[in-house]
Amino acid sequence: TMKPLIAANWKMHGNMSWRNKPAEFNEILPTAERRHLDVLICPPAVLLAPLADKRGGTDVWLGAQTCHDQVSGAHTGEMSADMLSDAGAEYVILGHSERRAAGETDADVRARVEAAVKAELIPIICVGESLEQREAGQAEGVVEKQLAGSLPDDLTDYVIAYEPVWAIGTGKTATPGDIKSMHAFIRSRVWPTTRILYGGSVKPANAQEILATENVNGALIGGAGLEMESLAEIAKAA
Ligand code: 13P
Repeated sequence: TMKPLIAANWKMHGNMSWRNKPAEFNEILPTAERRHLDVLICPPAVLLAPLADKRGGTDVWLGAQTCHDQVSGAHTGEMSADMLSDAGAEYVILGHSERRAAGETDADVRARVEAAVKAELIPIICVGESLEQREAGQAEGVVEKQLAGSLPDDLTDYVIAYEPVWAIGTGKTATPGDIKSMHAFIRSRVWPTTRILYGGSVKPANAQEILATENVNGALIGGAGLEMESLAEIAKAA
């Protein structure tokens, strides 16, 4: 059966004092109380190794927020999937809308997914439409194109995150009906066992309703994932 995945994307937040957060989370919601779900923290890459070092005894997973598509080379400022894995990552978020907005294409995402899989990282591939696209009735078409372009043909172990762009950091969430129908659509394009996360202004107050929606197998959380108390509240709802 499928374990829900509760994933915090810290984006560009945090510093070395945050290295105790996995242990802090584990104190609030101990492993024994959450065997039925996976909890993942995706910090800025510089914090992966310190968090991995301080994780001892907890089973909070760690992930990166992107990776390069090459193993090594003359790519100033970039990090390979192997390096991120070596630093303690088990997952990697790819194709987040904030990166797509900065120019990452479906083909770029696909190449990064391939590199991630080779490094034995589990990719979390983000898809989602803009408000303009939703209002023009193109939401499913946009997501279909992103899925077709971003997923390598032979992909087996991966996670999809549906994040409507207009719901990210805005306090607006998609309606339960919209989430249900988009997740059903995504389900028709992926394996029965592929976890499909919802992301976009998930917080303790709305987590229960969102996580109870059919084909919602977890959440990708921005703002509310910076505080371990609120992340734990969301995890309790899973
Ligand atoms: P918020 O939860 O802050 O809306 O961010 C969602 C997100 O982009 C997670 O990747």
